[in-house]
Amino acid sequence: MVLFITGICPKDCFYCPVSDERRADITYANERKVICDRDVLDEALQMDALGTGITGGEPLIRKEKVVHYIRLLKERFGSQHHIHLYTSMTPDRDTLQELAEAGLDEIRFHPPVNIWDKLEETGYANSIRHANDLGMKTGIEIPSVKGAEVIGIFANNLGCFLNLNELEFSDTNSDAMKKLGYGLADDMSNAVAGSKEYALEAVNKCDRIHFCSSSYKDAVQLRKRLLRIAENTARSFDEIGEEGTIYYGHIECVNNDQEAVYEELKKIEVPVDMMEMTSNGIDISWWILEDIAEYIRKPDRKLCIIERYPFEEGLIVEKIPL
Ligand code: SF4
Repeated sequence: MVLFITGICPKDCFYCPVSDERRADITYANERKVICDRDVLDEALQMDALGTGITGGEPLIRKEKVVHYIRLLKERFGSQHHIHLYTSMTPDRDTLQELAEAGLDEIRFHPPVNIWDKLEETGYANSIRHANDLGMKTGIEIPSVKGAEVIGIFANNLGCFLNLNELEFSDTNSDAMKKLGYGLADDMSNAVAGSKEYALEAVNKCDRIHFCSSSYKDAVQLRKRLLRIAENTARSFDEIGEEGTIYYGHIECVNNDQEAVYEELKKIEVPVDMMEMTSNGIDISWWILEDIAEYIRKPDRKLCIIERYPFEEGLIVEKIPL
C-alpha cells in the first residue's frame, strides 16, 4: 500500500511528479482519501497489503502522523508487515530512534540534486549512519540524472543501497524539464533520454544498486490496475491470473444453438453460476470445460480456454483450443 502522508514539501525538485491535486495537506492510502484510521486499515485489508511505503510530499513534516500510522499498521498486521519511508529531510538521531521504535523497517533518503557533489558535508551522511546504527535497512532513492555516479560512491562508502529511478516526464514536471533541455527517450514511454545511461555509469560504483526503468514501472502499474479491475468485474467462474488477466472456458456454437447447449450443460449438472450464455456461445469455468470436453465435443462446437484483459470486450491475450 502507498500511504501518501501529505502533499506539502519544502523542497522544489524540477522533476517532482506530485500532481497539482495532491499538493495539499491531505493523506491518501492508495487512491482513498484518509479521514480516520479505519480508512487506512480498510484499504490495507482490501488489497491484502504485505507492506506499506510512506511517501509524500515530505512525510516527515507530519512526523507525528507518520509514527502514528507505523504503530497502527504494525499493531494490526504484525511485525511482518514491512514499512518503508521516503524522506528528503535529514532527521536527527532522536527522530530516527522514534521511527525505529514505532516499527519502521526501512528508510530511503532523497537528497536534492544541487547538493549531490557535497553530500559528505551535509546532514544526509549523519542521518544515514544513525539509521544504519539503529538497525533499519537504509538507502538513497533518486532519479537517474547526471551525477548519479557520485551518489553511487557515496552510498558505497556509507554501506547503504542506492535505488535509481529512470527520469520521466509527467503532467506536472514537463515544462521545467523541457526548459532544462531534457527530451523524450522514444515515442513509446515518458522516459527521459540519457537517464538510463547515467544509471549505467553508477552501476560499477555501488555494490547495492537497483535501477527501476520507466517501462518496468509502467508494467507494474498496469498489472496493479488490471488486478483491481479484475477483482471488481470478474464473474463467479472467471479465474484471475497473477498478471490481472482473467481465464475462462468458451464453447463457440458455430450454428448459434447456444440455448440448446446451455440446457445440455444444465442436464449434466454444470452449476448455472459456473457458465453464462454469450452472443456466440457459452462462457464457462475453464476447469469444468476441461473436465467435460470429451463428453460435449461436436463438429459444430469449438472449445477453448481464453485469457483476456478484464474489461468488457477486453483484448484476448491467448486462446488455447481444447
Ligand atoms: S522532495 Fe519529493 S515531493 Fe518534495 S519536491 Fe522533491 S520530488 Fe517533490
